[in-house]
Amino acid sequence: MPYWGVVPAAVTLSERLADVRARIVRAAERASRDPGKITLLAVTKIFPASAIQEAWALGLREFGENYVQEFEGKAPVVGALEGVRFHLIGHLQSNKARKAAELFHAIQTVDSPRLAGRLNEAAGSLGKTIDAMLEVKLSPEQSKSGAAPEELPELIAAVRACPHLRLLGLMTMPPWSDDPEASRPYFRQLRELAARHSLEQLSMGMSHDLETAIAEGSTCVRIGTALFGKRVKT
Ligand SMILES: *Cc1c(COP(=O)(O)O)cnc(C)c1O
Repeated sequence: MPYWGVVPAAVTLSERLADVRARIVRAAERASRDPGKITLLAVTKIFPASAIQEAWALGLREFGENYVQEFEGKAPVVGALEGVRFHLIGHLQSNKARKAAELFHAIQTVDSPRLAGRLNEAAGSLGKTIDAMLEVKLSPEQSKSGAAPEELPELIAAVRACPHLRLLGLMTMPPWSDDPEASRPYFRQLRELAARHSLEQLSMGMSHDLETAIAEGSTCVRIGTALFGKRVKT
């Protein structure tokens, strides 16, 4: 087998981070967009608190976690890192809203007026304001959570009426496909929905389809595998 032309896989977090940042910059340039306007959200579900510490030491500040309970275990170690912000990107049940409001700076998976109400109440009693993104479900193959596009007007009105929530934009996760082009229609639809409702931020794109997401206007790519490697549940 010829060696030449084969790019060796990056092995350290620092190398992987450089690769991901380069992909973001290239994708932004191709789309004539400012790469500085695209947040790299490091997704650390399943990985230990030490992965967050290591990534923070390399300059990452925004982190995504999927499970309230899992993050509760890491928060004592990483919660006070300077400038760090934690986003909840997994489904949130109303009965965990209070705990989520305590632990997270942003909740990207607000999907019902009821959940928004619970978060608002909890944030108010904690004396904080939480950044909110609305998770949108654009196809029946997607996970069960997320608001349908036709539910958005009511949900947006509900969140805008919450003084302790700051509504930033929309989030979606397309049905899994290893072809990044398969995500494009979903990303496009999310962008159109956000424009229709005057929302500026779009959380879309993961390790395998960040280029497509950036071409379609993503302002936040959520990257796990490309930074930390494959997740192995133990
Ligand atoms: C796990 C996860 C990601 C990261 O996915 P990778 O393919 O590992 O980059 C992004 N968004 C959500 C909602 C996730 O659950």
